[in-house]
Amino acid sequence: MTTIIIGGGIIGLSTAYYLSLLEPELAANHQIHIVDSASDLLLSASGYAGGFLAKDWFNPSVSSLGALSFRLHKELAEANDGSKKWSYMPSIAYSLAIDARGVSSSQSGSDDWLVEGNTRAGAAPTGDGAERKEMVNADGTPAWFTKQKGGTLELIDGEGGCAQLEPKQLCQWLMEECQNKGAKIHTNCFATHISKGEDGKVMGLKMKKDNETYDKHCKNILVAAGAWTPRVFSKLFPDSKLRIAIDPLAGYSIVVHSPRYSKPILDPTRHGEHASAGLSHAIYCAPTEKWAFAPETFSRVPADGKPEIWAGGLNDSAMQLPETADETPALIDKEKSEELRSAMIAMTGLSHEGDDLAVDDLKIKREGLCFRPVSRSGSPIISKVPESTLGRGIEMADSGGVYIASGHGPWGISLSLGTGSVMAEMLTGRKPSVNISRLMLK
Ligand SMILES: Cc1cc2nc3c(=O)[nH]c(=O)nc-3n(C[C@H](O)[C@H](O)[C@H](O)COP(=O)(O)OP(=O)(O)OC[C@H]3O[C@@H](n4cnc5c(N)ncnc54)[C@H](O)[C@@H]3O)c2cc1C
Repeated sequence: MTTIIIGGGIIGLSTAYYLSLLEPELAANHQIHIVDSASDLLLSASGYAGGFLAKDWFNPSVSSLGALSFRLHKELAEANDGSKKWSYMPSIAYSLAIDARGVSSSQSGSDDWLVEGNTRAGAAPTGDGAERKEMVNADGTPAWFTKQKGGTLELIDGEGGCAQLEPKQLCQWLMEECQNKGAKIHTNCFATHISKGEDGKVMGLKMKKDNETYDKHCKNILVAAGAWTPRVFSKLFPDSKLRIAIDPLAGYSIVVHSPRYSKPILDPTRHGEHASAGLSHAIYCAPTEKWAFAPETFSRVPADGKPEIWAGGLNDSAMQLPETADETPALIDKEKSEELRSAMIAMTGLSHEGDDLAVDDLKIKREGLCFRPVSRSGSPIISKVPESTLGRGIEMADSGGVYIASGHGPWGISLSLGTGSVMAEMLTGRKPSVNISRLMLK
């Protein structure tokens, strides 16, 4: 019952992981294959994304999948030390509101948290250690976010409703788990055609790796190639009239270290043996005079233990998707990178009371560009492709199937484990454990 998963981002890896849990002998017998066209995994969205996870920020068609996925993220992290290995932490989410006159929209005068903010460390709430007090303001907001004139951080969700992780590290963990169980990963590898048996039925894929071509037999094919999914599908099924309505949306990101976030922030609600539990913060900002786009900033503590701040939100919808993810860095527009860097300094650089401009005392860890797979419906496609739509004369052998899991847009990290779990159920003939009927192709 070999399954070939085309695309080794977080969706392909999550599916392989749950498939290997549901049917361990498949993995052990090397019957799960992840095929990726790039020279390495995680050179695309799943390697550069922010790792914000939400429980119920989704439209109704995705809500049960969103809740399942949020629960699976928590359970996976708790069972496997995810807080250390991939920075899984509960989060508090704020939105920054700035009054056009430079006056806080919900507070005024000296009560404005951002006017007094960064220097109120000593008055921090009841944290269990001195470490927390240095890194948070009196009202619990993070000290790494620089005071903005007239700005107010408005709480939009708290612990239990959102969390965060380092997506690349979660993917690496999933990848290692899959490999340890026997799944095979093939990089620099393209599926070029379907291959048919003597009876004319589809029995696998023709693969090309390092200029060599070979046939790989399989029962099921899952296309989980992110923004490349429509391209992969139409290459394999050129006669299909089905159009996979997913578009690429390029997004820049930056990760920095800040002197105001040099130690993890501890969760003040945890005590005793849980006193060292971390807490992350997410701050969503609308465009202002200082930045013309809507940045998102997230704090996290990756496996090296060094707290860092991720920022993104600067996108380019006109950028063409390259042939492979390896070619993405060459597309980086220096002006756009600079624009994101400047916004990062304005949001998190050093500022003394009364200063209008923050100073750059940040250390850049990395900058990046990647492509989100954005579906035109606004919801991902998680579906078996009806055989009748694959094209004239295409019939699968052994009741196998072609599946798609893609189009997660800005929510692929959050929805990853839920998607992988229900896709593994579908691939093994089980009923999906949550209702995804509105995400299926008709
Ligand atoms: C800047 C930014 C920030 C984000 N922040 C968040 C966030 O905070 N929370 C959240 O939930 N989501 C976030 N997202 C969205 C999330 O990153 C994506 O939805 C998710 O990573 C998509 O995963 P994927 O596996 O579908 O695609 P990808 O990660 O793009 O993986 C696709 C894989 O397919 C491979 N591939 C391409 N062509 C072929 C081919 N022909 N054959 C074989 N393989 C192929 C690629 O090399 C790649 O490895 C963010 C996205 C961006 C861009």
